[in-house]
Amino acid sequence: MDALKEHTIAFSGLKDGAHVYQFHLSEAFFTAAGEEEMEGGDVLVDVGLDKGPTLLVVDLHAKGTVDLRCDHCDAPLAFALEGSQKQIFRLTGEEEYDDDELVSLETGAHSVNLTHYIYECLRLALPIRHVHAPGECDPEVEKVLERLRVSQEPVPDPRWGVLDQLKNQQP
Ligand SMILES: [Zn+2]
Repeated sequence: MDALKEHTIAFSGLKDGAHVYQFHLSEAFFTAAGEEEMEGGDVLVDVGLDKGPTLLVVDLHAKGTVDLRCDHCDAPLAFALEGSQKQIFRLTGEEEYDDDELVSLETGAHSVNLTHYIYECLRLALPIRHVHAPGECDPEVEKVLERLRVSQEPVPDPRWGVLDQLKNQQP
């Protein structure tokens, strides 16, 4: 997703050592994310930043609820989400390689934007399948699903027997 300016940390003026930040993700964030799966939410992201001469170590911790759809009944589901992610930024800009955890910032960079990493942290905290607690699915949908299940069971229909007999009688 696109970077949001409120997630930019201007580190050039910071002393070496530990710093903390907190971001609140609400409708604006999820709208900007253009997410189909997460329709909204209310999440607090605690950010610990450790600044050294050549590295920035960022620890993200996200906790809150995101608005999903239940994979079983498709009704809204407020999913309690919690996840953490560590990201290391190299400040020297000498080596042009990125891997999952270590990202080189351009030489002379003064700030780093965390929107992408926050978004990634949320995505990684989502299970592949998310459903309501037992008994909390939409009862109307449950009824329909139950009917479908019943109709899919191979119940012998007496009329088929009659049809077979008719077929067999044909010359
Ligand atoms: Zn459900």
